[in-house]
Amino acid sequence: MSRYFCHDHPETLNVETKVLDVRPGAVVLEQSPFHPGGGGQVADRGTLTSANGQARVTGFETVDGRLWHLLADGAELQGVVQAAVDAEFRAMQTQLHTDAHLLNALVYQQFNGALLTGAQLGDDGTARCDFDLPDVDNDRLRALEAALNDVIKQDLPVRYAWIPREEAESTQGLLRSRSVAPPPSPDGMIRIVEIVGLDRQACGGTHLASTGQSRPIKILKIDNKGRHNRRVKYGLA
Ligand SMILES: [Zn+2]
Repeated sequence: MSRYFCHDHPETLNVETKVLDVRPGAVVLEQSPFHPGGGGQVADRGTLTSANGQARVTGFETVDGRLWHLLADGAELQGVVQAAVDAEFRAMQTQLHTDAHLLNALVYQQFNGALLTGAQLGDDGTARCDFDLPDVDNDRLRALEAALNDVIKQDLPVRYAWIPREEAESTQGLLRSRSVAPPPSPDGMIRIVEIVGLDRQACGGTHLASTGQSRPIKILKIDNKGRHNRRVKYGLA
């Protein structure tokens, strides 16, 4: 996973920066507060404002290691810009994503190391995680709701470390996801997210500073997806 500015400065959502390169409907910035998505994380939304106009950021594209910010209506911005992340959208995604960690930590612990096979956050305050759980009573999964809200109430701190890829691969349980495993950064390091006292796993997403910053969550639905997968849909209460 690449190192993003938002990994080190998750609270900084507004940055004054410079356009380094431009093509119709896209720019490269000297510094970007946006999370471009990937690894189960939804891309940020927001705006870029320059002296001659404002453009909505609609997506991201990485080409040859450079992050292009895609702009609505083919806008072309130059010079100094104010880059602003949509704070409300980031806050919701950060909650849903951190809660996905809590859910997959509890599933991993209570169901013999069951792995995540997919995750998708919605823009409506709900998200879903798929797990490799061939033989499990769905009521046991539903019962995780109380344990999840208990972890939120305990307000466990969230910490980060970067470790070499080989160390991550040789440590049981750090690479949790079968489908959304984060690639290493160009220097071969992997970002580890620790929910202190609960869980450690590799992830490049955005997280709350502590679990207590999440609203309570509700498990909305459990679906069987094929013979091996259970899909757990949850939402912010
Ligand atoms: Zn994460």
